Amino acid sequence: MKKAILVTCLIAVIFYGAYSVGKTDAQTSLAGETEIIEFFNEYKEELWELLEFFRHNKDIFEKLSLILAELPEKYTPIDIDIDRRYLYGEMAEDLARLKEAYPGLIQTEVLGQSEDGRDIHLLKLGKGEHKSLLLGGVHGCEIAATPLLIKMANEYAKHYYSEEEFDGFNVKELLDKVTLYIVPLVNPDGMEIAVNGGKTLLTQEVVEVFNQIPGRPLTDWKANARGVDLNRNFTCTNWGKVLPGRPKSRNINTEPHAEFYGGPQPASEKETRALENLMEKNDFKILFDVHSRGRVIYYYKAIQNEEFNEITYRIAQEINKFSDYEVLPPSMSTYGQGTDGNTTDFAAEAGVHSLTIETMPFHIPSPYPVELITAEWEHFKDVGLILAKETSRLAE
Ligand SMILES: [Zn+2]
Repeated sequence: MKKAILVTCLIAVIFYGAYSVGKTDAQTSLAGETEIIEFFNEYKEELWELLEFFRHNKDIFEKLSLILAELPEKYTPIDIDIDRRYLYGEMAEDLARLKEAYPGLIQTEVLGQSEDGRDIHLLKLGKGEHKSLLLGGVHGCEIAATPLLIKMANEYAKHYYSEEEFDGFNVKELLDKVTLYIVPLVNPDGMEIAVNGGKTLLTQEVVEVFNQIPGRPLTDWKANARGVDLNRNFTCTNWGKVLPGRPKSRNINTEPHAEFYGGPQPASEKETRALENLMEKNDFKILFDVHSRGRVIYYYKAIQNEEFNEITYRIAQEINKFSDYEVLPPSMSTYGQGTDGNTTDFAAEAGVHSLTIETMPFHIPSPYPVELITAEWEHFKDVGLILAKETSRLAE
């Protein structure tokens, strides 16, 4: 048995070696082929024996896969430093580090590009069949969610492998049942504008549009680079509508602006389409859209029934218990006042329990001081595990 495995491994290594060398250099590939032929000649008898062995032990591959599953997974704990100005570049670097550190637990993907050409990244954390979604950085100037979500992924991954509890949560058990899909920065262009001004925009076409847009100071910029508030741009029944008997909101802009303009039509923006596409392709149970202003939670969806809202309310209360973020009453979740079209409107209509979580105190200067973001971790740190726990509960 041991001999058979050894020979199998040898064959695999030689084939792999010949294949990968062949891809870069034709001559070495020939040398590789000669080596394989020599190898086959030299070990003819053993190979024959091995074939016979497989013929009589057809369940061997199943057994081998069981052995492999028992082997400890490779991982290298890392540190994520959010105690610095943390923007698109820092996030992209850390995403690559996380993927390398925990290859069995963390995967990354690019969902698409922003209007100004920056990648919209997705991080998948966990091995579970049930999925939920976390979004951050929908509003440019609300820059806290991105570093908090990246730090969170790292802390949970470390605790997954150490099998230690995190604030009373069994991380391993939860992430074996649930996979968290995390888009840490939905609106990378908006973040660049809010923190670095328009000078870091890349494409001429976008710069020309951007320069025409009113709504300064830039440090309070919420929209994308084309002046569309992405949290007004998502497809939903009441998009842009003022319903009979409803008061029209004052927070509406009808032209590109730093905030409150929903775009010429739903999903007019690349960022919105990338996210709608992700949500259409995956059966998410819950959505947490993490914003950064006011330490409150919006949970109510007038378009949904009472039972649906009761479940979402229960989830909101769980977050409140650990974070101290205040759960706002249904009257604070406006609809039909001309401002519909946020991420949670889109998701809730598809049956996803959807909450907007505002981290950070309300009255803080922009761009947010780094030390205030770092301090917010203590409020925020359990949010992803609450999400995993509630997702697994809904799946039961
Ligand atoms: Zn916001």
